[in-house]
Amino acid sequence: MSIANILSTRKPSISFEFFPPKTLTIEKVLFDTIDSLQEEHADFSSVTFGAGGSTADKTFDWIKYIKDTCSYETMMHITCVGFNKATLDGILDKLEEAGIENVLALRGDLPKESNAPAGDFKYASDLVEYIALRNKFCIGVAGYPEKHPESKDFEEDIKMLKNKVDKGASFIITQLFFNNEYFYEFRERCEKAGINVPIVAGIMPIINYSQIERFQVMCSSHIPAELIKQMEGKSEEDVAKIGIDYAVAQCEDLVANGVAGLHFYTLNRSTATKKILDKLHFL
Ligand code: FAD
Repeated sequence: MSIANILSTRKPSISFEFFPPKTLTIEKVLFDTIDSLQEEHADFSSVTFGAGGSTADKTFDWIKYIKDTCSYETMMHITCVGFNKATLDGILDKLEEAGIENVLALRGDLPKESNAPAGDFKYASDLVEYIALRNKFCIGVAGYPEKHPESKDFEEDIKMLKNKVDKGASFIITQLFFNNEYFYEFRERCEKAGINVPIVAGIMPIINYSQIERFQVMCSSHIPAELIKQMEGKSEEDVAKIGIDYAVAQCEDLVANGVAGLHFYTLNRSTATKKILDKLHFL
């Protein structure tokens, strides 16, 4: 079933994001996580795609495994930086053959090497347009409640997001954020710009103190000073408890304010996501 279809019938949708593990030992962890999250009655899950297509085969294999063994829908992330049309066609053919109809179309982070191949696509919008030509896939795109770090301002960022929707995207999944006000302002900006597709909120609980700096640098997501203060000097166990309670409150507030869906960045572990879902009143 297409994710657009799911989003039109279930509010809020619940979804999980995984990434393809690098080693066999960690693969076992992901198998266990997928198995353990089965009982949570999610609507769909997605698997990330390594920069420049480095995990293309593994991403596909995990998507196929989930499709064959789980009761929920799946979605493959595809990044287009450095990709040519022939390589992309190969991936889309495989997805079609396997009956996988959902794709998250992304640009990917720009390579640091100046001699990296340019490829046939510059922005995610080029990828959306190309995939949409097949008329076979339901396409989602990324959105940034705190704006994409490369955009000079919100106005430009929302204009580019609208372009992705106009080219064929049916839903948006956001970057993780910790202050719901950013999400509400972003949603309002989207509405004003005429973006009418569902916006799913990206949720990731902080479960250890070292994540704080990583999230701020890697995702440009601001963490409220009050939350950092609460976690300072606490044991690992207490930090995880505070982080999970914070995420629960965040999800409850989002749902009370009509969010289309909650997308959990699981980091391939089930414990935190399960604890959050167990505490949510609306489920
Ligand atoms: P774009 O939409 O192309 O935007 C990138 C920048 O260019 C923005 O500043 C935008 O405003 C601007 N822009 C867009 N179109 C145009 C245009 N036509 N003209 C001028 N400027 C334009 N990364 C991975 O490597 N693998 C993953 O699996 C992955 N999954 C993700 C999932 C989610 C939900 C999110 C939020 C991010 C994910 N990322 C992933 C990270 C993503 O690849 C990076 O954030 C990347 O820097 C931007 O990708 P994008 O698709 O948002 O790019």
